[in-house]
Amino acid sequence: MTYQVLARTWRPQRFSELFGQDAVVQTLCNALTSGTFGQAYLFSGLRGVGKTTAARLLAKAVNCAEGPTAEPCGECDSCREIAQGSSIDVIEIDGASNRGIDDVRELRELLQFRPTRDRYRVLIVDEVHMLTREAFNALLKSLEEPPPYILWIFATTERLKVPETIQSRCQQLEFRPVGSELIRGRLEKIAVAEGFSLTPSAAASIASAAEGSVRDALSLLDQLRAFASDNVDDEAVASVLGVPPMEVTVQLVEALAAGRIADGLALVRDQLANGQDASVLYREIGRTLRAALYLAVDPDLAPTMSDTHRDLLLAVATSGGVDSLSRMLGLWLEQEALVRGAANRELALEVASLRLARWPSVQRVEEWLAGIGPVDPGAGPSGSPSGAGPTRSSPGPAAASGGASAAAAREDEQAAVITPQDPSLAEEASSDPGVILATRVLGGEVVAVRSNGEGS
Ligand SMILES: [Zn+2]
Repeated sequence: MTYQVLARTWRPQRFSELFGQDAVVQTLCNALTSGTFGQAYLFSGLRGVGKTTAARLLAKAVNCAEGPTAEPCGECDSCREIAQGSSIDVIEIDGASNRGIDDVRELRELLQFRPTRDRYRVLIVDEVHMLTREAFNALLKSLEEPPPYILWIFATTERLKVPETIQSRCQQLEFRPVGSELIRGRLEKIAVAEGFSLTPSAAASIASAAEGSVRDALSLLDQLRAFASDNVDDEAVASVLGVPPMEVTVQLVEALAAGRIADGLALVRDQLANGQDASVLYREIGRTLRAALYLAVDPDLAPTMSDTHRDLLLAVATSGGVDSLSRMLGLWLEQEALVRGAANRELALEVASLRLARWPSVQRVEEWLAGIGPVDPGAGPSGSPSGAGPTRSSPGPAAASGGASAAAAREDEQAAVITPQDPSLAEEASSDPGVILATRVLGGEVVAVRSNGEGS
């Protein structure tokens, strides 16, 4: 027997099975139940979230021998033929490969005839935004006064590219990206029903990689089943998705958050040496940092992971705290484009990791400057013998009063930060010569600028 892909085996056959799209389902079912459904619909949303499936369900609902109904029987000729894609009254067209006016003319010719057997002639146009302007104009005429037996269903991943004139003549339904927790639950349910093994963290990784698309999640799961002979675990996910095992990113984040530069860099190098893609590794560091931040804010909000990873990250969350982790995540975000766009992404990743690991030192200097805590410039961050070296000060005076500082000369942006252009800041600076105007990390060095003209 040939293998049928999961997306097909598990394609929803009734509205109640179309998960993650409650608002759409409710709107359609209400319209069907009350008999007030429209003659033209525009379904928009990300790929693989159920637009075409919903279009077929709607076709079944209006044409079912028992219908129109929100619960098509699934048994009658109409229902079965629509499910198989062989109904002569339900026509599916791909807008990407039938873009021109001639294609639309052909479609319009179909409108002249009543349905052969069913109540409605349903025309489903996928990727409708790909049609040419002339094709849209031709389409518009049919939308203005459609014959009563016609139902148009347009689907698009790019609603804004569909002309206003078309949009305004359709009932618009926006399909949302499906939440990763919902997808994860779905994958686990499918694994149980199909009788193969899928670990919770593997399910979570697949769900997250699918970025809201159920179809993407299911095709990843197909690939993984084939690769891992029905034993889908973290290792299989790491190999097929090309992502580092979560164990590694958790260790990495733990080292960086503690300021243990050497440990962090060793892990990064190890991954790169194993052929790991630098920007994927950086992305996963961000995901793990985010998970740690969630654990610090409220453990119930954190994404699904194994107990071991959770315990490790919980320790990072507890010792780091919300403020520190959110600023690390901010720093991670600032550098993301740099890592992605760098000519040497491996080097960019190392520098970015270094800066993240320097964050604990920066924080301690800030606290010192703010008079909150003591700082020992000669020591690494607490509890990290292999950690950062001494916190060096900026090389020269960085005068807020406009004098050219070494730091400002090195970086224009820095000059903009240390010159108090903000009037309230200037006022504060004149009344208190010790006020801190800025602290920045420049090339791994901590530069603090005070209004008396001294960098610390
Ligand atoms: Zn039926």
